[in-house]
Amino acid sequence: MKALGPIPAGFTSIDGVLAMGGKPVTHWVEEAGGTPLFLYSADRVRERVAALRAAMPGRLSLHYAVKANPFAPLLSAMSGLVDGFDIASGGELEIVRGAGIALDKVSFAGPGKRDAELEAAIMAGVTLNLESEGEAARALAIAGQLGVTPRLAIRVNPDFDLKGSGMKMGGGAKPFGLDAERVPALVREVIASGAEWRGFHIFAGSQALSAEAIAETQGQTLDLAARLADESGAPLPHCNLGGGFGIPYFPGDEALDISLIGERLAERFENLPDALRETHFCIELGRYLVGESGVYIARIVDRKVSHGEVFLVTDGGLHHQLAASGNFGTVVRRNYPSAIATRFGAEVEEEASIVGCLCTPLDKLADKGGFPRAEVGDLVAVFCAGAYGASASPANFLGQGPARELLV
Ligand SMILES: *Cc1c(COP(=O)(O)O)cnc(C)c1O
Repeated sequence: MKALGPIPAGFTSIDGVLAMGGKPVTHWVEEAGGTPLFLYSADRVRERVAALRAAMPGRLSLHYAVKANPFAPLLSAMSGLVDGFDIASGGELEIVRGAGIALDKVSFAGPGKRDAELEAAIMAGVTLNLESEGEAARALAIAGQLGVTPRLAIRVNPDFDLKGSGMKMGGGAKPFGLDAERVPALVREVIASGAEWRGFHIFAGSQALSAEAIAETQGQTLDLAARLADESGAPLPHCNLGGGFGIPYFPGDEALDISLIGERLAERFENLPDALRETHFCIELGRYLVGESGVYIARIVDRKVSHGEVFLVTDGGLHHQLAASGNFGTVVRRNYPSAIATRFGAEVEEEASIVGCLCTPLDKLADKGGFPRAEVGDLVAVFCAGAYGASASPANFLGQGPARELLV
């Protein structure tokens, strides 16, 4: 038997069925009109944001990285909880606009912004995190034609990375941001152009579970921001310190100690260099805010045995939950947390693999896990499905189409 990832704390059952939002998931499946279904818990998101706020210094603002989960009802719920939103495309700009989010709270990072995207963002008053000198020139030219003052920040490619992070976004040659030594010249150019100078965006990595590593990176980020502000010769209005807060997905993973991060950051904030004394700071988080709030529910349509191994074949699969299948940025496939939702908490009776309905051996949601005996018609739950699920999976693969989604 292979271990399963840790089910996030706090999930309970009603009459043996996994519950969310005070109701068994069978209720939500009926309400949504069937499976496969992503369920997101608004309460869990609220609790997560509250816990984070309590742990972090009051001076630190909290942004949500929309790419983790752009489901409109979730974004609307989020708009009352966080201080800003980070988007990464013109498509996400339209999604946040549609969700009724105030666009002056939005910043736009990401390489390869097209002219039409720059124009839409400038018109909307969105802050652009410039990824290169070339992008800066295009943004300034477009703003000039529009007769609008653009709000411009510079994304810095830091000369360090976030240790132990699942995805490194800084350190060495990267398509993201400007190499640090070229930043001061562009700062002066942006300010001289008459644009509204918004400061730095410094993002060093994602999905780290070491509080020490995150605290160390935040310290390096503050040092770098201070140095670049000094060299630029201008005060720094804003500094986005990045994110990188991870969640436990796999066997042996442990939850991040946010209190340590908060304490270290508070110490740093009390001893800021002159260049940063008036700076407004934020972090931008995706999966940490929403990942554990989501569960992917699929129905078992076949139960079969091959060479003595049990396969629970579901109506879901990697086309909705690519990451759980191990095909989204992982080197070695390990099991996400999963369970038989309609026998939640029941004793382990057999070893079984939960697979999807796609005709590829990659389509595996749980490999040789221990489960209660499940039959055709039972529901399976894959946890940690609130981030990089529905929108980060190839829903059209094999003509399957998207899953249903519901915020409860
Ligand atoms: C992807 C991304 C995030 C969100 O990462 P999470 O691991 O979901 O917190 C934040 N900022 C930037 C620039 C990103 O590219």
